[in-house]
Amino acid sequence: MDALSCPFCDAADVARVGQWGGQIITAQWQCRSCGSYFEAIREDFDDPQPASIAIDRRVEWIDTDAAGIYHWTSAFRLVEAAEAALHTALGVEARTFGLTPRVAVEADFRGPLRFNDAVRVELRVEDVGRSSVRYGFTLRGPEGVACEGRLTTCLIDPATRRATAWPR
Ligand SMILES: [Zn+2]
Repeated sequence: MDALSCPFCDAADVARVGQWGGQIITAQWQCRSCGSYFEAIREDFDDPQPASIAIDRRVEWIDTDAAGIYHWTSAFRLVEAAEAALHTALGVEARTFGLTPRVAVEADFRGPLRFNDAVRVELRVEDVGRSSVRYGFTLRGPEGVACEGRLTTCLIDPATRRATAWPR
């Protein structure tokens, strides 16, 4: 990313003082020259390729159905595992675990996955709202794309159980 400078006095002597700004994608900075606080896009979101992760799993026997291929709900468990891995990689899992109900999910099933197949689960942030995050996901197996779709979650406040903004 370009070197940050203070939006108030243009000094380059700035320091990141908080992991979070007003949104999940921002961090708080302070200018050491004039003392002003400002927000900037987090480095890990300041990328043409937004926050994403890929995890590798194997289709377990219990993931399959009577037809011998992965049960449709297995796809969502794999996506949720990737979501947990992404939040852990971003260091936000303590603030989000158990507090991000699913709002919407859609999936297109394009091919089979069978017991013991290696599957790569790719998850990427597509959109961040005030309290919601929409992910896109792709499951790839030995025969290529097996499933792709979208998942939308929102963050709720542990006390009120209502939607809340991403943490500061
Ligand atoms: Zn300044």
